Amino acid sequence: MSMASVQSSTLANILSAEEQKILACVHCGLCLEACPTYVATGDENDGPRGRIYLMRAVEEGRLAVSSTSFETHIDRCLGCRACESVCPAGVEYGQLLEAARAEIMQARPKRGVAYSLLRFVLRHVWLNPKRLKATFAIARLVRDFGVARLLLKTKLPHEISPQFEFGLALLEGSAVDTVKGRCERQKTGRMPVDRPQDAGAPTGAPVLLFKGCVTDGLFQRVNEATTRVLEVNGCAVQAPSGQVCCGALHAHAGDLEGARALARQNVAAFEDADTKIITNAGGCGAMLVSYSHLLADDEAYADRAKEFSARVQDIGQHLRSAGFRNGASIGFERTTYDASCHLLHGQHAADASLQMLWAIPDLNFALLKDSEVCCGGAGVYNLMEPALSEEVLSAKLECIQQSGAEVLATGNAGCHMQIAAGARLNRMKLRVCHPVELLDESYRRAGYYDGE
Ligand code: SF4
Ligand code: SF4
Repeated sequence: MSMASVQSSTLANILSAEEQKILACVHCGLCLEACPTYVATGDENDGPRGRIYLMRAVEEGRLAVSSTSFETHIDRCLGCRACESVCPAGVEYGQLLEAARAEIMQARPKRGVAYSLLRFVLRHVWLNPKRLKATFAIARLVRDFGVARLLLKTKLPHEISPQFEFGLALLEGSAVDTVKGRCERQKTGRMPVDRPQDAGAPTGAPVLLFKGCVTDGLFQRVNEATTRVLEVNGCAVQAPSGQVCCGALHAHAGDLEGARALARQNVAAFEDADTKIITNAGGCGAMLVSYSHLLADDEAYADRAKEFSARVQDIGQHLRSAGFRNGASIGFERTTYDASCHLLHGQHAADASLQMLWAIPDLNFALLKDSEVCCGGAGVYNLMEPALSEEVLSAKLECIQQSGAEVLATGNAGCHMQIAAGARLNRMKLRVCHPVELLDESYRRAGYYDGE
């Protein structure tokens, strides 16, 4: 048996349970225009239909897993899943992509410095909560003591490497001053407020908060805002201590075993109660709802994972279904909203996040053209595929500039950092925040937190 056949048969093993999903593609091409990488390159193999053809060729033994064309076009996929939402045949492309990447990682574990480093970090840092906590503590020091900001004012990071410069900009993009202007005003005086009528009486029920590793590490303020907003709406919030990273980075990089190890820990940490599990990051939420698929073949966890996934809701989805209060005006800066791909196409949250903004009276809101199109962040895609990521990001920044927005709300830590980094490097005046931070501020101005 040739090497190509051996590798292909391994892929066939991994994809055997997914074969029907490959065959479900009727090659209609309706997904092509929704695919940011196809739009950017115009190459059929950089679109969902072409990638599915490649997967099929590998599965049938006509193409080697380690062939350059397979690796290149699978690597270039953002995993945004926009193709899923427009596919009339219901092809579950995200699951096919994860299987294909798992096979590439298995066939060629050592494929250059960048992928070896990624694999090392995912295995030896992300799977170890203590090391991960220490890593984020160091990152916060670099950010909060102004080291990243200072370096970005020089040419040094760019001279070291454009990826290093962008990495620093991502870290700086998570800095608290992205909403500093608003926070400072809210401390120095409240605007005159007519407390509005509530949109609906909140029914309030206890919930469990999934903190998310990046959100917990770099955006603690978003978890705090989420907790306050839930509590004002009558929901007692607990954050189970045994929770770990959701595993999205592992699954997207092809390390399905790493993702499963994390998924089992989360299922165990959240199974004591029959309560909703609330997330505020689209990437985490989409991963958590996919545990039912990820652990489907695990006898001990399959049913528990299914039950777990059914309880997961984004903060916007939960508020919409449980009912929530209106807040007060927060000022008149032009504000826009960019949808997280995984919130939209993975969690199917539609406009649930926007509903949080509709509860803020007199918001100077501007619709963002192509708000449903990926920003190019996609986990670590921005560092692994910098050229294509930059092209996708540039289109996003242009739309933001056209909207005239000074504030942009988005419901995912990765999108937040990507857009804020792009804005910083392009010297745009833009503050990025989570929609729940704006609602939180609106509640504060309405006086809901008085007496805290
Ligand atoms: S829209 Fe669906 S069925 Fe049509 S080519 Fe794309 S993946 Fe295949
Ligand atoms: S996941 Fe996104 S980038 Fe990948 S094929 Fe689908 S639409 Fe294109």
